[in-house]
Amino acid sequence: MRAFACSVCRRLVTFEGSLCLHCGADLAFDPGAAEIVGLRTGVAQHEGDGVEVVPGDTDAPVERWRCANAELIGCNWLAAADGELCASCTLTRTRPADGDAEGLERFASAERSKRRLIFELRELGLPVVDGQGTDGGLVFELLSSANAPVTTGHADGVITMDLAEEDDAHRETMRLQLHERYRTVLGHLRHEVGHWYWTVLVEGALAPDDDDHRALVERARELFGDEREDYGAALDRHYAQGAPEDWPARHVSAYSTMHPAEDWAETFAHYLHLWDALQTAASYRVAVAGPEHVADPAGTFAGRIEAPRVGRFPEALEQWLPLSYALNALNRSLGNEDLYPFVLAPPVVEKLAFVDRAVALAAGR
Ligand SMILES: [Zn+2]
Ligand SMILES: [Zn+2]
Ligand SMILES: [Zn+2]
Repeated sequence: MRAFACSVCRRLVTFEGSLCLHCGADLAFDPGAAEIVGLRTGVAQHEGDGVEVVPGDTDAPVERWRCANAELIGCNWLAAADGELCASCTLTRTRPADGDAEGLERFASAERSKRRLIFELRELGLPVVDGQGTDGGLVFELLSSANAPVTTGHADGVITMDLAEEDDAHRETMRLQLHERYRTVLGHLRHEVGHWYWTVLVEGALAPDDDDHRALVERARELFGDEREDYGAALDRHYAQGAPEDWPARHVSAYSTMHPAEDWAETFAHYLHLWDALQTAASYRVAVAGPEHVADPAGTFAGRIEAPRVGRFPEALEQWLPLSYALNALNRSLGNEDLYPFVLAPPVVEKLAFVDRAVALAAGR
């Protein structure tokens, strides 16, 4: 995530903020400009929900509107027109009913994570296709399993999320039951969206009879395995036997071993973790100059983190390793578990580099 400044007073504000804590300006995120902008409400000329944007020191206000979900869930994005949803909220097809207070609270939190996801996908230059308008696009169903059973998962662009994952006790129970080292709502969203990007980036990246495309699919199968493998059988095997003991030598997580499609989705999610964290570190001008890590084969890293660039994965990794060691060390100092509880074995690095290449192809870089 980039760091943002209030457009009125230029102080640091968060991506999630609707108010500048320094100067009191109303703020919104403008998805078109990918910037936080200051708002002034109740301008005489524009009654109702209309707001005026005050772009810093110019005096040419533009009429803009907050997302129609602003009141309900505190969405801080702008919409294209009065009464419409923003580019992120509009991807959600089903949400808890208006009378479901607990469901709505969790929905608000899940949408906060989803906005971060959508922002990053756009930053990467990836297509984000609204599945409510286009067949095969992305659609989110954010449902509460308090009312009926919900399985978090993905099917042809439809991402279903159990909002019970927003409950800390529930999520932690699930994490322990499944022997996971890491479980977050943002992680779920990144994983599920990864399944959709398999179709977009690998399967449908180019014309099916194109040589480049065939090479891409073949390389993906070499790295992750054949995604046409029987999913039901793989699922049964995984829950009966668990992951092989030596999974860290080849996979980013135990769940990755379940099926090639899950390995891709886990790796894709992981790529988004790295990319966001590096962008944040670069934005805050974090510098990690040492100590040298013995496992750093290049040993060339020193200094300030630079914003990651799509298609340049080896450079990003060279920055990520010392940063993640420092982040883990800081977390341990504060009595917490590792912030980044993962080990990137060489085959995992190769898979991440492949995701980077697929993203670069789709983004035209
Ligand atoms: Zn301000
Ligand atoms: Zn919204
Ligand atoms: Zn999955």
